[in-house]
Amino acid sequence: MSDAEYTLEDELLARARIHAREVVDDHGLEIDLSSVEWDVSKRATRRAGACRWESDREVATIVLTRRAYERYEWPEFAAVLRHELVHVWQFQRFGEAGHGPQFREQAELLSAPRHCPTFSEPRYVLRCLESGCDWRAQRHQASEPVKTPEQYRCGVCSGEYEVEHVESGRTWTTAGGFGGAKAALGSQW
Ligand SMILES: [Zn+2]
Ligand SMILES: [Zn+2]
Repeated sequence: MSDAEYTLEDELLARARIHAREVVDDHGLEIDLSSVEWDVSKRATRRAGACRWESDREVATIVLTRRAYERYEWPEFAAVLRHELVHVWQFQRFGEAGHGPQFREQAELLSAPRHCPTFSEPRYVLRCLESGCDWRAQRHQASEPVKTPEQYRCGVCSGEYEVEHVESGRTWTTAGGFGGAKAALGSQW
């Protein structure tokens, strides 16, 4: 793992801890943050966050997903964290957690999403190649703009863009490049 990845995880955890403190101080969520443990998941999971409870130690662990932190804007990620903090509250108070009326009521007070937050990794990312333009788009299927990028243009500046196959990191800018990437990956496609 590179230093850059450590830095991102440190940043994620630092921001998460600060926000958790704000939720307790400003919204009056009655939880004991000192017995909460934190973890970052680096696995390719669809869950943006999770909360584990070890009843013998009475310790709740909030697990946040690195990829979700990279994909989300902070307000969206902070809402995921508040969802998990509601679970902490349930575990610390009742020894169990769920998404019933008790959860909904507390989640509403914190403007936290009701459902366990998931996110789906796009299969393809389109990225403008013009310097100074940060246009990006996501595609879940090999649509025409994915297969023949030379026929299309950036949605903002009309420049050329590249397509990335997210799982492999392979990129292309032409139909030929798409075919080559697909052939090279074979069954991993
Ligand atoms: Zn949940
Ligand atoms: Zn552009």
